[in-house]
Amino acid sequence: MTNSLIDLRSDTVTRPTPAMLEAMFQARVGDDVYEEDPTVAALEQETADRFGLEAGLFCPSGTMTNQIAIKAHTEPLSEVICEQTSHIYLWEVGGIAFHSGASVALLPGNRGRLTAAQVETAIRPQNVHYPTTSLISLENTHNRGGGSCYELPEVAAIAEVAQRHRIPLHLDGARIFNALVATGQDAREYGRLFDTISVCLSKGLGAPVGSVLLGSKAFVQKTKRIRKVMGGGMRQAGYLAAAGLYALHHNVERLADDHRRARQLGATLAARPYVAEVLPVETNLVIFRLRDTTPADDFLAYLEQHGIKASSFGPQMIRFVTHLDVDDAMLDRLETVLTAL
Ligand SMILES: *Cc1c(COP(=O)(O)O)cnc(C)c1O
Repeated sequence: MTNSLIDLRSDTVTRPTPAMLEAMFQARVGDDVYEEDPTVAALEQETADRFGLEAGLFCPSGTMTNQIAIKAHTEPLSEVICEQTSHIYLWEVGGIAFHSGASVALLPGNRGRLTAAQVETAIRPQNVHYPTTSLISLENTHNRGGGSCYELPEVAAIAEVAQRHRIPLHLDGARIFNALVATGQDAREYGRLFDTISVCLSKGLGAPVGSVLLGSKAFVQKTKRIRKVMGGGMRQAGYLAAAGLYALHHNVERLADDHRRARQLGATLAARPYVAEVLPVETNLVIFRLRDTTPADDFLAYLEQHGIKASSFGPQMIRFVTHLDVDDAMLDRLETVLTAL
């Protein structure tokens, strides 16, 4: 199998395993717009229970769960506080302006992580010139920050600020399970601290499609109409939800393997003369900067010649992502190719 493709572009590239496909094949389904799909209902409830929140809403993507949450929490002439490289701002097509007519207060984070003090200073005072702060949104793990994880006390301090100012707190938890596995934190702590959480099943968990938005029963009831107007009301979606349930049951603990492989890749890269800097590797993302003497396009072309795909992530920046479809044999091959350059 020395010639099989190693795709490090994203943890979204995984294909369902035969066992996951079998679970999908066996799913009991109904029309979920009529709230009659038992497998969707089971996935929504089980995901909510894991975080100690009341209810969940199954959606096609993490972009949709985030944007629905933002729409439900905000109104035009209000403002969302988030990190300047957060996914909700940078990689969701300007959806905050498009769907919600809201402004953004962008804060510079430490590898994507904000502090409570930063958040508090960004909250707008009452003044006719200003939008009103309607939402604080955090991202964990932080994608652009290289898969960095929040410490729970910092999240608790931010939640305290949010509560004191009566501003809802949302978590873009596309990779929250990576954070939980890497840190040993308890999912229920997150459910206590955040009003709403978006969880992706199609990243490291290996499902083909799907994200779940978690919150109170009343909040999720409100979001159903927003999902419908965005065109996200799905019918026999239980076939997809079954993949999500399979992923929750089988693919969470194994994220530790992805993290081990990412750490090893990070160490190999740090020792290469053509690498200027590797961001600390905390989970399954490895972001590094090449020295100017090794142009990023040449480096990516060299990898392609050896059947390896990776993403450009800014000038001279490259991102490697480990996932379900990268095994130890592939890791050995990667080490050889990286060392030979
Ligand atoms: C991938 C991702 C999302 C959602 O992406 P979709 O491709 O729309 O499912 C949201 N937030 C972060 C941090 C992500 O990495």
